[in-house]
Amino acid sequence: MATTQQKDYYGALGIKKGATADEIRKAFRKLARKYHPDVNPNDKKAEEKFKEISEANDVLSDPKKRKVYDQLGFYSDNIDPAAAEAYARGGGFGAGGFGAGPYPGSSSQQGTGGGAGFDFGGFDFSDFAGGGGRQTGGSTGAGGFRDIFSSIFGAGAAGRGAGSMQHEPEPGTDLEYQVNIGFWDAIRGTVLRLNIAHLETCANCHGKGTIGTPQTCPQCHGSGQISQTSGRMKFNTPCPRCGGSGKVQTTCPVCHGDGAVEGTAPLEVRVKAGTRDGQRIRIANKGNAGLYGGPAGDLFIIIRIGEHPVFRREGDDIYVTIPVSAPEAALGAKIEVPTIDGRSQLRVPPGTQSGQKLRLREKGVPSATKEGVRGDEIVEVKIVVPEARDLKVRELWQEMQKLTPEDPRAELWAKV
Ligand SMILES: [Zn+2]
Ligand SMILES: [Zn+2]
Repeated sequence: MATTQQKDYYGALGIKKGATADEIRKAFRKLARKYHPDVNPNDKKAEEKFKEISEANDVLSDPKKRKVYDQLGFYSDNIDPAAAEAYARGGGFGAGGFGAGPYPGSSSQQGTGGGAGFDFGGFDFSDFAGGGGRQTGGSTGAGGFRDIFSSIFGAGAAGRGAGSMQHEPEPGTDLEYQVNIGFWDAIRGTVLRLNIAHLETCANCHGKGTIGTPQTCPQCHGSGQISQTSGRMKFNTPCPRCGGSGKVQTTCPVCHGDGAVEGTAPLEVRVKAGTRDGQRIRIANKGNAGLYGGPAGDLFIIIRIGEHPVFRREGDDIYVTIPVSAPEAALGAKIEVPTIDGRSQLRVPPGTQSGQKLRLREKGVPSATKEGVRGDEIVEVKIVVPEARDLKVRELWQEMQKLTPEDPRAELWAKV
């Protein structure tokens, strides 16, 4: 018993109901490339999907079939378009309604648009059965699609390896890689030698996805269309073997028709002196290869800079924390501090407090973008108090406490 199921052909192709013929064609080709049995040998799911999209395309790419489908929510070769029209206008199924082909038994179908279900059971189909038979024959499926499909797979070995889809150029995607470099490499500049994994143009087919010269399609003999007769109706549908182009080409065995293969490319990337953490370096056309002659994407290298045990970098400034003794802080001193250039003199003013920041101008990182400009080094003072380990030192601290009786927390308490 053949059953005509309601199917979402637009959904299967991922298109809107009002899609143009061109949009339908493009959507089908894109999906067919993905699910074509040549690309997915022994993959049942892909095969099912390919059947589904082929069926959807078969109906939607034919204006007459599409009209019937749009009116009824399903399509069968055995439906008289005039009856579908009448049904869509609200006439329901009167006399001379649905014609049916050589199917035994009846078909049932849920009504469209929330209407009541209807049943083919009461109709006499025999009237329509003799109208010329079915050219392709052998199918007991719900529509012409099964005939088309069996002819694809029925072709056996001859059908294998023959590419049929026309490929439009697709630009390659951009790639992003994060690269860690050392603290000093970022300040002084370096050259990175990288091996970038990306899609590259297939050398075997030069990105075309096919090899050899196009041959006339053996199924449609170059017309791009095949005819089907069903009951009283004769349909022309796009040839499933060549996708309507009339030509077939052998799929490239190296890239399986993609036009691109995975590979790695050695690449030298110059990192400028003064490069900052998080900087993106764009390298044009070094991303993934385009497909079928499309341009390659870009490669982006994101620089991550390692830490240093003493220096902390913020933009072009260098931060460093320097221990200063209590007498140095109290009396003032000239001390030596480390900078990225080596040792440098720093004057600690008398009365310097812990946490105070002293600036060494232009001792920071030379700017990667502004010629001749350097950041500063910012020195944070950390006062170190000596241990009062012998009696003499203790006495001196006690003496100092008497001489400086100010409460260091007085200001604090005043604010509470
Ligand atoms: Zn063909
Ligand atoms: Zn190839």
